[in-house]
Amino acid sequence: ENTYRIKRWGNGYFDIGESGDLMVIPRYNEPELKISLKEVIDEMQSTGIEFPAVIRFHDILRSQVELINKTFRSVIEETHYEGSYLGVFPVKVNQMREVIEEIVDVGKRFNYGLEAGSKPELAAALAYNTNNEALTILNGYKDEDYLRLALLGRKIGRKVVVVIEKFSELNMLISLSKELNVKPIIGLRIKMMVKGRGKWESSSGERAKFGLSIAEILNVIQLCEKEGMLDCIELLHFHIGSQLTDIRAIKEAVQEAATVYTQLVKRDVPLHYIDVGGGLAIDYDGSQSTNDSSCNYDLTQYVSDIVSGFKQHCDLESVPHPNIVSESGRAITAHHSCVITKVIGEIHPKGIGSTVFDTKKATGEHITVTNMRDIAQVLSTENYQEAFNDVQALKEQAIQAFKLGVLSLEEVAKTETLYWQTLEDIEQIISNHDFIPEELKEIPELLSSQYLANFSVFQSAADSWAIEQVLPVVPISRLNEKPTKLCSLVDITCDSDGKIDKFIGEGAVTNSVPLHKLNADEDYFIGLFLTGAYQDVMGDMHNLFGRLNEVHIFSYDDDPKDFYIEEVVKGSSMESVLSTMQYTPAILAQSVKKAIDKKIQQGQLKPREGVNLIDFYEDCLSDYTYLKA
Ligand code: PLP
Repeated sequence: ENTYRIKRWGNGYFDIGESGDLMVIPRYNEPELKISLKEVIDEMQSTGIEFPAVIRFHDILRSQVELINKTFRSVIEETHYEGSYLGVFPVKVNQMREVIEEIVDVGKRFNYGLEAGSKPELAAALAYNTNNEALTILNGYKDEDYLRLALLGRKIGRKVVVVIEKFSELNMLISLSKELNVKPIIGLRIKMMVKGRGKWESSSGERAKFGLSIAEILNVIQLCEKEGMLDCIELLHFHIGSQLTDIRAIKEAVQEAATVYTQLVKRDVPLHYIDVGGGLAIDYDGSQSTNDSSCNYDLTQYVSDIVSGFKQHCDLESVPHPNIVSESGRAITAHHSCVITKVIGEIHPKGIGSTVFDTKKATGEHITVTNMRDIAQVLSTENYQEAFNDVQALKEQAIQAFKLGVLSLEEVAKTETLYWQTLEDIEQIISNHDFIPEELKEIPELLSSQYLANFSVFQSAADSWAIEQVLPVVPISRLNEKPTKLCSLVDITCDSDGKIDKFIGEGAVTNSVPLHKLNADEDYFIGLFLTGAYQDVMGDMHNLFGRLNEVHIFSYDDDPKDFYIEEVVKGSSMESVLSTMQYTPAILAQSVKKAIDKKIQQGQLKPREGVNLIDFYEDCLSDYTYLKA
């Protein structure tokens, strides 16, 4: 547990079972209900589903929607807050139809709505958010069609709020609403002065991409008043960035927004919603700190600070409490899905697998090789620190000598082999010591392996590559066995960036994670967790690997310990990814067939062999893109 901090980042949804398997607790606060992830994987394998694969736990998704709504409701009740909570889920965080359907379904009884930031997201929101009591909030830059779609929503009775991001959108909205004879609901996005904390802090401040300055807000109000549309302005919105690591930023933002809100209400702007945007963070590294991948608060503190912040300020100013809207995405979806991949090999600095190079002394060998061998032979508990320094220096010398053409390939191979051998022996010695000299602390890292896993970082963990986001990496079984190998992960893309080398460590992020030694007769599956927000949908097509096979898991209502695979969504086939790049698979097959036929005509291929080759090519086109491991 300490190694992987499962309880810390798991938010009550993950645990270790007695058998050492990773367990999923699909419903919040019901720890006695546990599903073994290994059993899910076994069932997937027995039904022929290939890995890597995404596993989605719909019960977790439902639990998170309930949790945020219930938390707001109970804090509102406890603090005698007079407004209500009307949350929305931002579609961009996970646009998958099944995810949106589930969120809308469980959200109905809370009048939980959707937020859209583009025309396609709005098209989906209009079709799926059919509850006329729930909000549909529209952010992002808008053109005429975007606004017409919004007004279409108003025509069919939906509470669609157009959040004005820039002044010109208002002119367009006013004239379209007159043309279509429908009253819009207008929201104003404030360009906040307070800075968020974390990777997305540029979402606020004077140089922020979105939002209206105070001067622009006053101009909007003036124009609406002139057009007789002041009563359309119902919502004030702010968003100071995603993954807000420090609760102080939230408190400050609430204070700033509350000041603007109360001032505007006192000027007779009929605002009655305050939208606090997203930002509720996930503790990816389990450190409960202001690290970029963590946060120093929990859901209850977040909600309390928002509710009490607005209450206090409005009470002081004698302004009615607004209804509170929030647009949390990351916090709703991150926990519900994970990526499962199999480790298919090990890359060790000493070389792959068990190849051993013979280091026997050769007559006339270079002195560097002899010295390296001598150190290896006399290594002891008395001289290991000196030996470490000496082999480091000799390794450098060997590289220089090789560049000058003084050392042969065989001699380089021998020095390298002896070097790694000595480091392994020193590691063995220091592993029994309480005190380890500072300079020797890097040895485990130097000796760490890279585990080759069948997945693409660019498809499945985009933020790990793009912004060094830490995602929990945990083996699916053997969690009751001490992991003895320090590893980083490399993927199967032809790209050195295709790796994960930022992991949860003791108090800080580290470059390797302890994993178990691979056994020849046993699959070793690992999971990347908390991938349900952004990672699930932002992946790209690097190397044309495409989307993963995906299963949707539900637990039975009458026996929640048991699960069933409700749906399998097939991942990308070779022909599907090639088609997205404008290839026509049939033409590709024809072209290869033509080349094979030519070889048959020239007598260089037997017809039967030729037919087998083209059959194989066509079968490959319809296969999964990832390695058949
Ligand atoms: N609302 C807006 C306007 C956003 O830009 C974002 C994301 O940055 C969100 C909501 C969702 O934020 P989060 O995923 O941090 O909850």
